[in-house]
Parts: sequence; structure tokens; C-alpha cells
Amino acid sequence: MAKWFAKPPSAAPLSEADRAARAKLRVGIPKVLNVWTTHQFWLGFFQALRLSPRNLVFSSDTSDAQMREYGSGRGTVDCCYPVKCVSGHYGELIFGQKRRIDILFSPMIHSLSSFMDGHVMESLACPRVMAAPENIKAGFLRERDVFAENRIAHVAPLVTLAEPKLVPRQLFDALKAVVPGLSIEETARAVEAGFATLAAFTDDLRARSRDILEWCAREGRPCIMVLARPYHMDSGIGHEIEADLQACGYPILWSQYFPTDPDLLDWIFRADLAEGLIRHPFDIDDVWPSSYSANTNEILWGAKVAARVPWITCAIRLGSYECGMDQPTFTPVQQIVERSGTLFFSFQELDSTKPAGSVKIRVETIAYYLECNSPGVMEAKLRHMDGPGPLQTARASAESPG
Ligand code: SF4
Repeated sequence: MAKWFAKPPSAAPLSEADRAARAKLRVGIPKVLNVWTTHQFWLGFFQALRLSPRNLVFSSDTSDAQMREYGSGRGTVDCCYPVKCVSGHYGELIFGQKRRIDILFSPMIHSLSSFMDGHVMESLACPRVMAAPENIKAGFLRERDVFAENRIAHVAPLVTLAEPKLVPRQLFDALKAVVPGLSIEETARAVEAGFATLAAFTDDLRARSRDILEWCAREGRPCIMVLARPYHMDSGIGHEIEADLQACGYPILWSQYFPTDPDLLDWIFRADLAEGLIRHPFDIDDVWPSSYSANTNEILWGAKVAARVPWITCAIRLGSYECGMDQPTFTPVQQIVERSGTLFFSFQELDSTKPAGSVKIRVETIAYYLECNSPGVMEAKLRHMDGPGPLQTARASAESPG
């Protein structure tokens, strides 16, 4: 009985008119910044509100052409390159659609739900990322209100994904005027659906990362860990450097999607836990006491993992702009990785110009170093581990007959 009463109250049934209006509603979402790791939340959320998946439109990857065609002359004051690019995404959603969108939904993500929650001080977003929607919007209001002209509602709620209980009210207040018949109860259920969709997607990617690691352990092959922010997955911002490296035969892992299975983490951090250096595998207090930024925390944690896992013989650090968030992390990340003997390469100040020639030369150099050094790096790191781990156990069972 107590469990039954704990359920959120059912949403009132939707009228036929509201249902029909929602079926036609088109929502454009700029595929930028932290949307790269939260897009599944938004898909799950809007579909639970009975919007058609066909009417949920993400902008394309960042590109020069996108900025030239749709964002030119809309720049505002921000000097951070990943934030500046958002103008092109807004313009594409407003001017570049065959069928007009009704809502440009651009969440001001204040905090992120991170696997490290509970072991770090906070999981906040970069303040520039959080403020980007209001900042970029200004470029479309300068001479005249482009949103009103195109009959598009700009909806930019502040969202605290690290505090799920607050999210229904935040999204309900922002959407009640534009989603017909919306109630707070329905919004709460849709938020639950959003978190469930995001969790399922993330779990799937973590499982695929584990498959890669088990393959590396089985075959004695090296792989590469990418230490970067979510927007570096955008081909126009990260310039697909990791894809070029993968084409050289080295599987890629992103720290955001590293497997978090307890058996694996206990093995990776067993010595640190035994020595009392950390209280939990997600504890980064030993290397980064001011752990308030979600993406920074995950990069520092990824560096610790890369330093310990034998088959990760190289870590690649990507950075777009030497901002106050990134700058203090460069040296600690490099030192954590290099002190373990793991190879470390950094691409900093990536901007709009893909320096194709120099990236190609650097990728070839990295591949050469990996080829020459990976066997020694793997052997040395394996010697440091406390007994065979679950990846090697998986290797043994795969090899044993029957
Ligand atoms: S972390 Fe730095 S480079 Fe990235 S969005 Fe924030 S201010 Fe820009």
C-alpha cells in the first residue's frame, strides 16, 4: 500500500484536441555542448509527452558551412569557440528546415547527472555552456525578433539534471505555455522516462566499451582513451581525430562511457583503496580536490583509469580553448597519465580550422609511437596490477574449450 501511494499521481487524460495538437508540434534542439551526452534524456522526455519522434529535430554537426550560411553576423560576446558555434545551430533550426519548427528548445543545463555523483563535490556544467542559450539568443534579437517573425518559441529552461526532483517543475514551468494540456504530473512522468532512456543508452555504450576492453585483453591489443568534453564528439569541434586514430587500428574509448561495473573498478583501483588513497573507485580527491565540474571530474577520473588499465596504452586529450575551466586541468591530467608510462598526446586550442595536414602528421606519429611502445606499456602496467582481473578472466573463459 505504501508503495502504491508513493507513485506520482496519474496525469489527467489528454483531450483529443490536445493530442492532435501535440502530434503536429515540431521541436528543434541544437546539438551542441552538453546535449552531446544528454540527447537521450530529451528524446525520452518529449516522446513520453506524446510528441512524434519524427518531429524532434536535432541540428547537424558543427561545420564552417553551417556557420557561414546560418550563423554569420549573429555572433555575441563570447570568446569560447564551442559556445560561438551555437549561433550556426540556432540559425540552421530557424532558417534551414523544410518544415518550420514550433519550438527551439535549448536547455540551460546547470548540472549533469554523472556516474560520479555522491563521490564529488558537485556535478555542475561549465558556466559558459549553461548561459549559452541566452547569450546566443541575443544574436537573433539584435535588429528584430527573428523568433517572433518565424513563429518559433525559444524555450530555454534552467535544468538541474543532477537534482532530478527539481527537474519536473523546471520543465513544466518552461513548457506549459507551448505544449497543449501539459500538467505537472505528466511532466514528472516524462522526466522519469527521460532519465530511464538516458540510462539505457549510457549502459549500452558502457557495455560496448567493456566488449572492446575484453577483446583487447583477449588479443593482447592496445586501445586509446579520449579525455575530452562531450562537445568534442561533434565532428566540427573535435575534428574526428579519434576516428583517424581508430582507422589506424586502435579502438577508441571515451572516459564518459567507460564501463563502471564494480568487478572491473575494484580491480583497477584495488591498490589505491587498500592504501586508503581513495574511499571509492569514483573518488578523485587524491588528484582533484575541487571536484565541482561534472565534465572536469570525468576527465580527471578518465586519466586515472587510463593510467591503470594495461590495454589503454595511450590517452588523447582534446581542448578547444584555454579557458578557466580547462587550463588548470592540463598539467594534472598529463602527469597522471605519463607517470604510469602510458603515452599521452594533447590537441589543444582546436578551433574552426581543421589543420588537416598537421593532424595527419600527428596521427601518423601517434600511431608510430603506439606501434613501437604498446607491448612494453602493456607488460609494465600488467606487472603493477594486483593479480589477473575480470577482463583476463573473460579472456581465459573465452579460450577454454566448451
Ligand atoms: S569548458 Fe571552456 S572551452 Fe569548454 S565550453 Fe566551457 S568555457 Fe568553453
